[in-house]
Amino acid sequence: MLSQTQSVKILVVDDEEIMLKLACDALRSQGHQVASASGALEALDKLKQERFDFILTDIKMPEMDGMELIQTAHQIDPSMGAIFMTGYASLDTAKKAIQEGAYDYILKPFDLQEIRDAVNQAIKKREQTLKRARTNGINQIFELNQKLYSAGDSESLLKLCLQSALMQSRLKKGMILYWRQENNELKILQAKDPEKNLFVGTTAKIDPELLAEWSQKKEVLLIKSLRDYSFFSDLTRLLPRSSRLDELLQLEGEAILIPLVKAESACGVLTLVKTPEEQMLQEEDLKLLSILGIQTAISLENIRLLNNAQQSYRELQSLQDQIISLEKMAIRGRISAEIGHELNNYLTVLWGNFEILSMKIRKAELHSLNRQLETISASLDRIKRFADGLMDFSALKAEKKECDINDLIQRTLLFIKPQNIFKNISLVTELKPNLPHLVVDAGQIQQVLYNLLNNAADAMGKRKGEGGTITVGTDYHPEKESVEIWVKDTGKGMTKDQLEKIFQTGFTTKEFGHGMGLSICRKIVEDHNGTIQAESQLNKGTTFRVKLPLKRKDKDTSSTTSEGQGQL
Ligand code: ADP
Repeated sequence: MLSQTQSVKILVVDDEEIMLKLACDALRSQGHQVASASGALEALDKLKQERFDFILTDIKMPEMDGMELIQTAHQIDPSMGAIFMTGYASLDTAKKAIQEGAYDYILKPFDLQEIRDAVNQAIKKREQTLKRARTNGINQIFELNQKLYSAGDSESLLKLCLQSALMQSRLKKGMILYWRQENNELKILQAKDPEKNLFVGTTAKIDPELLAEWSQKKEVLLIKSLRDYSFFSDLTRLLPRSSRLDELLQLEGEAILIPLVKAESACGVLTLVKTPEEQMLQEEDLKLLSILGIQTAISLENIRLLNNAQQSYRELQSLQDQIISLEKMAIRGRISAEIGHELNNYLTVLWGNFEILSMKIRKAELHSLNRQLETISASLDRIKRFADGLMDFSALKAEKKECDINDLIQRTLLFIKPQNIFKNISLVTELKPNLPHLVVDAGQIQQVLYNLLNNAADAMGKRKGEGGTITVGTDYHPEKESVEIWVKDTGKGMTKDQLEKIFQTGFTTKEFGHGMGLSICRKIVEDHNGTIQAESQLNKGTTFRVKLPLKRKDKDTSSTTSEGQGQL
């Protein structure tokens, strides 16, 4: 940062040799770095090669006057401070000098102190101006960032970027291009009349070759005319007639191309056209536009990633729903073998009794028909109850209805009891009477129960001979407005490590397991805004607790617990 005591670099320009030497000596003696030029052209040469903080110039010079020199010098470096030296003071000269960005002017002849004071004053003024410009720049970038981050989709972001760029550069015509290389799609937004908020957008499929070169661009580019730049003439040929860039290409004037750079490549280009009547852009404007390009590219990338994540999440959800349905079908497949086996048993009993019955009828032993009729009736009753239990599994479509959970448990047990894997296992219930009804998808809750009961039976596999017990119970927690279903077994239990993983998809310790059951249970329970937890002790047994709210809430969680550990 410049300060009064700091030395600055000054270029002194005067065609009068004595004045030039005098001014240079005075400033050097104050510790400044000073270079001299005896005319405007020599001065411009030096300015192109070296950066100066100040230019101190005579106004009246033969090749080019001081005012014009400052104008040209400011095109090279707009932040350079200027001080004029003039032999005749008039209000007009003073005004004009200030208009050209001079900080001060000194009347000739001057004494050495005068020139030192003038430079010191100018250093102070320039310091303040630079500070203001820096604060303004930071504020502008901050506001810009806030706006960009608030844009929710790529279309509004592109519009915001183009609008801000036109406003910042005080230009009226421009467009922004944004391409997605993965699908060769190009979006173009043209500013027709930004003051009236008139923008026209087009999307087109584009040749990847055309974009490949542009994707490498990183720096702001100034070109003489859009029309003569092959990228745009090639591009407009590829666009549908209605959306061509003809109007922009016909405009006379320079163009400023700002690549939208993210990571190592550009994903678009912001293009502004400066007609000859419009004001030149300053270096500060170009810097801000280049920051705008980078910020826009980052925000576009964020929006793209967010969209991808949302899309993946939606796909995952639908996949999970499909898995639940498939698992339900798999369960149906698995149990249809059991059902067939079970029905065969009933049918054998029925056929046998029917044969005895018909034999007794043929022999007219009518007095002893009762026993067979009672056995047939009992068998039919068992078949009916077995069939009732199957009903809920048949519905694949999720449908939530009021349901008596105790009744659902009874029907599930009725239907699993005869299955082979539950032979030798005592199935006990501890159901809380008068349980409030819940609104649930009965088929899905039955699927949860079926999984928990099967896992419990599997856990007692080796201990079948010893005869394990599975207890299914219910509880009502009025303070939490929830109903709890618990399934407790006296099986082999789990280690702490296993317990932490049981809800992960694919985790299994069984030879033919697939590790889907519990993750599906959790999905179903979460869909009902409930929680599922497990407690376990190795070689002693496991208890699963499913808690379902009476009323539907928006969000809930699930977790596992192991005895004495609290929630994991
Ligand atoms: P799978 O039954 O195909 O293995 P699950 O997701 O239903 O898939 O179960 C995952 C694992 O959790 C089982 O392999 C087993 O190690 C453990 N597990 C589940 N329930 C019990 C239980 N009641 N007792 C002991 N371990 C269990």
